[in-house]
Amino acid sequence: MSRRADSSETRPDPRQFRRSLQRWFRLRGRDLPWRRTRDPYAILVSEFMLQQTQVVTVLPYYQRWLKRFPDFAALARAKESEVLHAWQGLGYYARARNLHAAGKFVTENCGGEIPAHTAGIAQLPGVGRYTAGALASFAFDRPEPIVEANIARVLARLTNWQDTIDTTAGRAHLWRTAESLLPMTGARDHNSALMDLGAMICLPRTPHCGACPVRRFCRAVEPALLPRKKQRPATVCLRERHAFTRQRNHVLLEQSHLRWQGMWILPRLASTPRRRPLLELDFPFTHHRVTLAVFARPAPKIAHANQQWFSLRALDRLPVPSPHRRALVQLLPLPSGSRS
Ligand code: SF4
Repeated sequence: MSRRADSSETRPDPRQFRRSLQRWFRLRGRDLPWRRTRDPYAILVSEFMLQQTQVVTVLPYYQRWLKRFPDFAALARAKESEVLHAWQGLGYYARARNLHAAGKFVTENCGGEIPAHTAGIAQLPGVGRYTAGALASFAFDRPEPIVEANIARVLARLTNWQDTIDTTAGRAHLWRTAESLLPMTGARDHNSALMDLGAMICLPRTPHCGACPVRRFCRAVEPALLPRKKQRPATVCLRERHAFTRQRNHVLLEQSHLRWQGMWILPRLASTPRRRPLLELDFPFTHHRVTLAVFARPAPKIAHANQQWFSLRALDRLPVPSPHRRALVQLLPLPSGSRS
């Protein structure tokens, strides 16, 4: 017998399913700031920030971002260094660059207004099927399905999908199931409810099936084992060497053109010095565990073209990735504002 569930038999009855889900959502759904607005710009900002990042981390960034760049025009006018600085600490900086590019695209090509249909939204830089559907349903209440991590888990369990979900067939199954459950009106609340069900009840390791509003529609036999995913690559340990060079109230930094492109980091060292590092700290990066080792180095006579001296006061306004800012905070008497 195939391990794959027969999806035509395992999809719940859509109307009854939606009724149960909505009843629960009206009572228990999360009150999130991006759900209190219909402004497509604010919703797009939240969607970019929420990719790979938890709600609790995003909340303060979202509020600060909207104060600093309240609309597409303000974002389009900003310099890249300002955008990276506002994103600093959220990680995955390609999202910030894409959001900046989307701001310019909407301003230059769409008269400052985002298109209200998925085909138009999908033209924006960094916008894939999920984000286009999310924007169309959350901002315009269009009947568009969405599948992100929480919803994928719920749908795989509801249909007892035994194959891996991160394959072409697995993704197709999830999108088909999401479509089959979608209402023609009220997609905004429906998609939000599915997300909240995954975030609050149908949890990754310990689903709270006893409290689940759609339990009677669920076919999962061993829900904690679902969804299945392809094996991840093993974690690779890396050691990266950087220099700490200070002259009175100035520190030498280098503008990165690789990872953290455009941000300012401690200058790279080509070889390992014989002496001990001033400090070491670890941080994760995709499937890597990186050790940042920082060594004292005397001031060079001439700095490289991509290197520059900055006063300690100026560091607060610079986009510096979190691991390098943590190192600077430990090595320098920075003003309190620089420690965020
Ligand atoms: S019954 Fe359990 S596994 Fe099924 S959707 Fe609800 S919480 Fe998830």
